[in-house]
Amino acid sequence: MFQVFEVSRRVAVVVAGFVWLAGTPAWAAGEQALKDVEVLSTDAMAGRAAGSSGSALARAHILKRFAEIGLQPAHGGFEQPFSFPAGTETRQGVNLVGKITGTGGSDKVLAVSAHYDHLGVRKGEIYNGADDNASGVAGLLAIAESFAKTPPRHTVIFAVVDAEEVGHRGSAAFVAAPPIPLARVALNLNLDMLSKSAKGELYAAGGHHFPWLKPRLAALAGKVPVTLKQGHDGPPWTGDDDWTLASDHAAFHQAGVPWVYLGVEDHPEYHRPTDDFATVPRDFFARSVASVVMAARSFDQDLDAMAKDARR
Ligand SMILES: [Zn+2]
Repeated sequence: MFQVFEVSRRVAVVVAGFVWLAGTPAWAAGEQALKDVEVLSTDAMAGRAAGSSGSALARAHILKRFAEIGLQPAHGGFEQPFSFPAGTETRQGVNLVGKITGTGGSDKVLAVSAHYDHLGVRKGEIYNGADDNASGVAGLLAIAESFAKTPPRHTVIFAVVDAEEVGHRGSAAFVAAPPIPLARVALNLNLDMLSKSAKGELYAAGGHHFPWLKPRLAALAGKVPVTLKQGHDGPPWTGDDDWTLASDHAAFHQAGVPWVYLGVEDHPEYHRPTDDFATVPRDFFARSVASVVMAARSFDQDLDAMAKDARR
């Protein structure tokens, strides 16, 4: 009986996922997200290292998707160039930042981030980074698509950042020169590695640092079509397993902006040349994309109460 109940519960959750995307089936959003991952992780993009020609190709695809979705530029244009030190030289990176204006009167903003760079070519092998982090960029674009169809209450900023793999340089540049005052950013939702989990699990980190997030993330876990677990941001996780400073949310953390990080645990293809489109499990990725869209929509609904709890 328990198993039967479990099965029907899972079906109900998946159906809720379908209905939730404002008339767009979760699988349809998943199809577009798969296409985005496929394009961003082709060999032609050569692993999207910051400052490379493959990185420029990736930007061209992301800007085409921004235009299709109808995002507005956040910085006058979409591009936010920055430079950073690499050994004895200075390298250039470029963030792509768009926005959708909220329909409510609140000045609070939700900032969604995902890095598009990866490791490039090393010893003749291309590190395509399908999961890390073409998948997160695809998830961000799915959120943008959902908010473009059914507008958010709050203004949502979409920061597709560069040079994460060389020290979170793009997110640091964004936080140093944000398109709106940082005090208005009530929450950063960072997406990094959404597609590969043998256990079907997505982690939500942030609740340890911002306890008011815990019940909200627990409620979300009851609705999304993946197993959403909380953790990896404090005890019992230590060392590399504490993800507090592991991705672009670190720049927001250091600036005192509350954040939620959504991502999978490390897997056999993590930071290997085998992190290819061919190794992305389609069913889990579609569920994962539907889940991050649901997360963003629920944070938008709840943003003023969250800002109050965070005393922002
Ligand atoms: Zn990453």
